[in-house]
Amino acid sequence: MSEYLLKEHDNGSVDLIEYVPTVVGTFPNRIFAERVLAALDGAINPDGVWVPAIPKPETPTSKEVSTLIAMVPTEASWMASFALVAKNQKPMKDAADALGVSFNQYRGKYAAWKKNRKVPATGSTSLDDREDCRLCGKSFRPSPDRMDLCAKCGRD
Ligand SMILES: [Zn+2]
Repeated sequence: MSEYLLKEHDNGSVDLIEYVPTVVGTFPNRIFAERVLAALDGAINPDGVWVPAIPKPETPTSKEVSTLIAMVPTEASWMASFALVAKNQKPMKDAADALGVSFNQYRGKYAAWKKNRKVPATGSTSLDDREDCRLCGKSFRPSPDRMDLCAKCGRD
């Protein structure tokens, strides 16, 4: 099937152009011909302009993704890191490097964390090995011979 196109010239005349189908190749069988056709269809856009194959955008591998995620410290990793620094098991500079944050950022967050941690202990969590004196109510460390009186009251 032929296609026709009009092309105007500057002087007003018009060309009637016929696009005549042209045999571009003859192939030994239909399968082979269809394969070549598919290749041409994929490579040539409707305007007949050769389009180089567009490389697929690179998607990060799962390993790269997990590396990226690891670069953003989670709250848990901050806490774990602070705990090490607080126990002097890790220099703050190393801890900051390990989390991929600046020393100043780390120091600021660490200071805030320490401040929050210094909330006065409520209850007896830190006084588990202590008793309240039966007489004065003062908390004291009981001993086998003095179970319910503090040192002062036991002496009196
Ligand atoms: Zn007492």
